[in-house]
Amino acid sequence: MKIPYSIKIAVIFFLSTILYGQELRKNKYGLIVIDNPKIYYNLAAKDSSNILVDLQKFIPSIKLDIRYSTKNNFLGEPVYKSARAFLRLPAAIALKKVQHELNLIGLGLKIFDGYRPYSATVIFYNKVKDTIYAASAYTGSRHNRGCAVDLTLISLKTRKPLDMPTDFDSFDIKAHSDYLKLPPNVIKNRDLLIGIMAKYGFINLDSEWWHYDFKDWKKFDLMDLSFDQLDKIDSEVYPNK
Ligand SMILES: [Zn+2]
Repeated sequence: MKIPYSIKIAVIFFLSTILYGQELRKNKYGLIVIDNPKIYYNLAAKDSSNILVDLQKFIPSIKLDIRYSTKNNFLGEPVYKSARAFLRLPAAIALKKVQHELNLIGLGLKIFDGYRPYSATVIFYNKVKDTIYAASAYTGSRHNRGCAVDLTLISLKTRKPLDMPTDFDSFDIKAHSDYLKLPPNVIKNRDLLIGIMAKYGFINLDSEWWHYDFKDWKKFDLMDLSFDQLDKIDSEVYPNK
């Protein structure tokens, strides 16, 4: 028996609705989080701005110091299996422009963190139980959307970081971006970073001088794919790369 084309289409549509309906169910914190590589792939194929870009490949001159892949973070233990940094394509393009402009004055960027899988945010939240310094599992972080980046400035000559008010992830009041009881050069460095990031669409979080949200973060879904899963999708899409 020949099945009419319109019925075939209806069946395919029905099946895909079931698949999406199942995968996009809210988690126990009431959030929809993309944790299926196929759904991420489809979203990225539909709209390239959804692609999570590997910053080390996209901006080869960028320096990485991914603290959550080491013990040197507020948890005292590694959360990531590897030292990687990803951002959504428009944010990565904007960050490339920041790096270019900084390079002209002998400076560069050092990244502490970019895209953070949602499950890492849940780990932080359960440990800290404080939503000033850790995003709530009930909202997720802008890092989970691939639209937030933690970073500092380095000198290209020495490859060392410039003096900033505190270390990364400090809970000290000195980490607040309007804190003024600091040496003039420290204020100058901090304000230079905040200013150049703002110029390219990154808004500073006022309790953390190192944290910046990309202006369009609301457009992007919360994600929970590991760096390995992102690599796997990348190698399947570009097998000869
Ligand atoms: Zn951050």
